[in-house]
Amino acid sequence: MQGLFADEPLSDRAARVLVDGLNDMVLDYAIPPGMDGVMRGSRVEVPLRGRGATGTVLCLVPPDDRWRGALRPLRRLVNDEPVVSSTLMDLAEWAARYYAVPVEQMIRCIVPEPVRQERHEEKTRKVAVLTDWPDDEKLNKINARAPRQAHILRYLHQSSAKRAPLAELGGAATLNPCRTLEKLGYIRIEEETVHRDPAGEETFAQSTPLELNEEQAAVLKRVIAATDGGDSRPMLLQGVTGSGKTEVYLQAAQHAMGQGKGVLILVPEISLTPQTMARFKSRFADSPGAVAILHSAMSDGERFDEWHAIRRGQARIAIGPRSALFAPVKNLGLIIVDEEHDGSYKQENSPRYHGRDLAVLRAKMEGAAILLGSATPSLESLQNARSGKYALLRMDRRADGQHLPLTRVLDMRTEAKDKRNLGILSERLRMAIEDRLRKQQQVILLLNRRGFARALQCPDCGHVAQCEHCALPMTYHATENRLVCHLCGFRAIVPRRCPECSSENILLEGYGTQKVEAVLRRCFPQARLQRVDADVTTRKNALRDILSDFRAGKTDILLGTQMIAKGLDFPRVTLVGVLNADLGLNIPDPRAAERTFQLLTQVAGRAGRGELDGEVIIQTYSPQSCAIQFARRHDTDGFAENELGLRQQFDFPPFCHMAVLTIRSPQEDMARFSLETLHKRLLTRLPQHVQISDPLPAPIPRAHGQFRYQCTLRAPGARIIADVVSAEIADMQFGEDIIATLDIDAYSFM
Ligand code: ADP
Ligand code: ZN
Ligand code: ZN
Repeated sequence: MQGLFADEPLSDRAARVLVDGLNDMVLDYAIPPGMDGVMRGSRVEVPLRGRGATGTVLCLVPPDDRWRGALRPLRRLVNDEPVVSSTLMDLAEWAARYYAVPVEQMIRCIVPEPVRQERHEEKTRKVAVLTDWPDDEKLNKINARAPRQAHILRYLHQSSAKRAPLAELGGAATLNPCRTLEKLGYIRIEEETVHRDPAGEETFAQSTPLELNEEQAAVLKRVIAATDGGDSRPMLLQGVTGSGKTEVYLQAAQHAMGQGKGVLILVPEISLTPQTMARFKSRFADSPGAVAILHSAMSDGERFDEWHAIRRGQARIAIGPRSALFAPVKNLGLIIVDEEHDGSYKQENSPRYHGRDLAVLRAKMEGAAILLGSATPSLESLQNARSGKYALLRMDRRADGQHLPLTRVLDMRTEAKDKRNLGILSERLRMAIEDRLRKQQQVILLLNRRGFARALQCPDCGHVAQCEHCALPMTYHATENRLVCHLCGFRAIVPRRCPECSSENILLEGYGTQKVEAVLRRCFPQARLQRVDADVTTRKNALRDILSDFRAGKTDILLGTQMIAKGLDFPRVTLVGVLNADLGLNIPDPRAAERTFQLLTQVAGRAGRGELDGEVIIQTYSPQSCAIQFARRHDTDGFAENELGLRQQFDFPPFCHMAVLTIRSPQEDMARFSLETLHKRLLTRLPQHVQISDPLPAPIPRAHGQFRYQCTLRAPGARIIADVVSAEIADMQFGEDIIATLDIDAYSFM
C-alpha cells in the first residue's frame, strides 16, 4: 500500500506514545529508519498539530496494515536510553488501574517535571589539567616572564587531582594565561559537567560504622541475606524509638552498594527529617556523589541533575519522600521505608497512591529486598507480619542507653474541677511549663487535631457519642442539628444530658491552635511562643525555618498540630505537653486510635533525647482509652492486638479495602444530586460483597468555595471498587463544575 505521505518512508514498526499534557491521549507514530533504540519507556518528540510535543513510549506495535504508511513518523529520540525502565512502566500501569487514574498521571510522577521539560540543560565549566610539570629551571623562567602562569602550574601541581576549575584559579582573568600554558604543552583545558548538588557547599564529616549490638546485628544479617537473594518476603522492622534502626539502614545500604546494587530510601516529608539525609551523606562521604537527594523543595536544576545521576548509576543511593519511590535507581537491590506508618506516604491529591504500598510492589517487580521500619508500624503491616506475608524483625531495646521519658496522663475530668484551671491548660501542665521556662529549657505543646470534624464529649465522664453500628465517633451537623455517622449514615439527636453520667455539661469540643495561643500568651507573657499550623505554614519553607529557629533556641514554646511531632529531635526540649489527646480520637476515621497511639508513642520516645531527662504530659478526657494507655507503656504489641481485634469485628482495614468517593461543586444542589444519582447507579452495579454508605455531606462540608458530598465503599479487594466506580463516573459525563474523585485505600475521611 502506498504511503499517504509519499515522501515519508514506510516503516515496519510503530510506537504507541502517551503524549504529554493531553490527559492520557495515546497516539501511534511510525519509527523512522535509523531511529533505533526507540523502546518502551523512551522519551520522544512527536509532530502534533503542526507543532511538536514530547511524550513517553508506552509500547511498540506493528502498525495496522490499513494504516501502514499513514502514520506520521517520530521526530526525535530525546535520550538515547529509555528514561523510564520497563519495570517502572509496568508499575505505572498497575498503579493507574489500582488507583483508577489515567496512566499519564502516574508517568508524571515517574518522570518529574524538570526532567520532562528538559529545559534544564547540563551546566558545564572549564577546568585546567596539568599534563607536564616543568623542571625547576624552566619554572623559574616562566616565573620571571609571567608569574601568573607559574602560580597556576604550582597550584595544579599541588592539587591532589592535578586539575582545578578555572574559577578556582582566579576566574575569567586566568583564561589567557591558561591558553598560553596549553600552547606550551603544560596543561590541557577541558569542559566538565557540573553537578548541581542540593546539599550544596555543605560538607559532611565521614562517619564510621558503629559496632552493632546483638539485636541490630541479627536484623542486619537478615536484611543482608534478603538483599543477596534469600527470603523474598518484605521485612517489617519493629524497633522502639532509639533502638538504632538508622544505623542498621546505613550498614544494609553499605552492603548492597558493595555488591554493586542500588538502594532506595524513603523518608517522611524530607524537610522535617534532615538528620536522616545528613547521616547518609556522612556515612558515604568518602564516595562523593554516591548519595542523591530528591525532593520538591529543590531547584529544578538540582532535581534534573540528581535524577540523571541516579539514572546513569553514578548515584547508587537515592533518598527522598514518597515520590522518590519512582527514582530510576539502577540495579535496585534494597528499598528501605523509614517510619513506614507515616501518613505522608499517602498522597492526598490525584494520583492518590500510597508510597509504601507501591514501594513493596516495586521491590517485588525488581526482585529487590524491602525493609519497612518503624517503632509503631501501621496495622496494615503488622497484620501482614502476623499472616506471614511479611517477615517480622524486632529491636526492643534502646541502643543509646537512654531511658524513655516519664509519661504522665492527666485526667481532665478531674483536673477540670480545679478552679485555677484554664480550660485547655490544666494547672499541673501550666506549672510544668513555668518550671521549664525558668530553667531556660524548651517546651513543645501538641494540639492533636485533624480536620474540623466536631464530636460531642462529656467533660465530666469523658463519654463520646458513638455510632451504634460502627463504634466510631459521630460528627455534629449544624444544619440539621443532628449527630451523623459518616460510615453508615446512622443519625442521632443531640442529647441534652450525658447518657453515661447525666451531666448537663455535655459539649462540642472545639479548640483551635489560635485560641490556645491566646490562652498561652496570657499565661506566659514573657515566653517566646511560636504557633505552627496550616495557616502559618502556607509559605514555602516556613515550617523548616520555624523548626530551625526552635533548634537554635530562639523560641521557648512551640505550639502546633501533629506536623511538628515529626521534627521532634531537639536536645533542649524537656517537656512535651499533649493538650487534648482526645481531639485525634474523636474523629470519624477508622485509623483515629492508631494515629493517636503512634503520635503519643513517637512523642514519648523522642522527648529528652539529649543530656536532660524528658517528661511527657498527656491531657485527656478518656484516660482509659486503649490508644492512650498502650502509648503510655510504649506497648505496640498490646495496642496492635487490641486494635486489630476491633478492626476485624467492625470490618475495617486491614481486613477490607476502603475507598472514599467525593463529589465537589460550587453549587450545593449539584454536588448532592450528582452524588445521589451516582450512588443509585452504583447500588445496582456493585456486587453484593461491596458495601457502600449513604451519600452525605462530607465532615468538612465546604472547602475552597466548593460543597463536598461523599460516601465510603468497602470491599475485600480494591480493584472491584476502582473498576466499577471509575466506569460509572466516566459514564455519567459530569459537567465542568462537578468534580468526582475516588480515593482508593483512603487515609483521610474528611
Ligand atoms: P532509631 O532510628 O531507631 O530511632 P537511631 O538510629 O537514631 O535510632 O539511634 C539512636 C541513637 O543510638 C543514635 O544516637 C545512634 O548514634 C545510637 N546508636 C545506634 N546504634 C548504636 C550502637 N550499636 N552503639 C552505640 N550507639 C548506637
Ligand atoms: Zn458524662
Ligand atoms: Zn455507623
